[in-house]
Amino acid sequence: MIHADLHSHTLLTDGTLTPEQLVDAAAAAGLKVFALTDHDSTEGLERTREQCKVRGLEWVPGVEISCEYAETGCHLLGLFLQDWEQPALQRIFDASKDERRARVYKQVERLVELGYAITVEEIFARAGGQTVAKPHTADALIAKGYFKDRDEVFDQLLGDGKPGHVGRARLLLKDAITAVKNAGGQPFIAHPILENFSDDQLREMQALGVVGIEINHPDQDATARARYRALAKELQWAVSGGSDFHLTPRDALGKNGLTKPEYEELCASLGV
Ligand SMILES: [Zn+2]
Ligand SMILES: [Zn+2]
Repeated sequence: MIHADLHSHTLLTDGTLTPEQLVDAAAAAGLKVFALTDHDSTEGLERTREQCKVRGLEWVPGVEISCEYAETGCHLLGLFLQDWEQPALQRIFDASKDERRARVYKQVERLVELGYAITVEEIFARAGGQTVAKPHTADALIAKGYFKDRDEVFDQLLGDGKPGHVGRARLLLKDAITAVKNAGGQPFIAHPILENFSDDQLREMQALGVVGIEINHPDQDATARARYRALAKELQWAVSGGSDFHLTPRDALGKNGLTKPEYEELCASLGV
């Protein structure tokens, strides 16, 4: 029985539900603790807090920050934030928004060169909130009939090393860690399997200030989870988990996260 989900997204970034709909879905899935961790945005936190109150869920303030480590893109979860209105943290999010918008223009230029008839307006129209992200480009291409789903677009066109990939200027992991800590939060490395980080790289992240690792994630199978559990034990890292919910059914709520004892262990080890 999953008790806590500490990783999810709304349509304020690249998810599909409003904060209210997302919390309702979490309650319906039987979850008792819920964290919204939108990409480079804390815009949805107040609404999530209010709806968690309505539904009787314990609420954990969070964010997922895109940054860079060893020249690879990297996602850092900031959990249990205390002061997310802090200017230094919000400046990071503002810079990320500006950069994401600029990147859409570069992205469209590249796609047109590759023969796709797509416009900047079509991509912005897909972004429900202020944060425009790659899945919006993917959705615009799907709507035009070029691909059947997001997985296919990323595999063939937009993923790392693919012809339509446009890199972005990123924040360094160490600076993202500092920003989370300054906001009173706890920095966790998100879904390490997606970036294929080695155990030595993860050990180095601990030296940079990461306090825990996301283990129970839909993209991490039993083998990956066992490997990360051994490492977490060695490093005395806190262990997190969540659905990484963007849309159903892929990221169904209530399937990935923490059981009650796992959540209690996480809180005890962090002293939160
Ligand atoms: Zn992520
Ligand atoms: Zn995520």
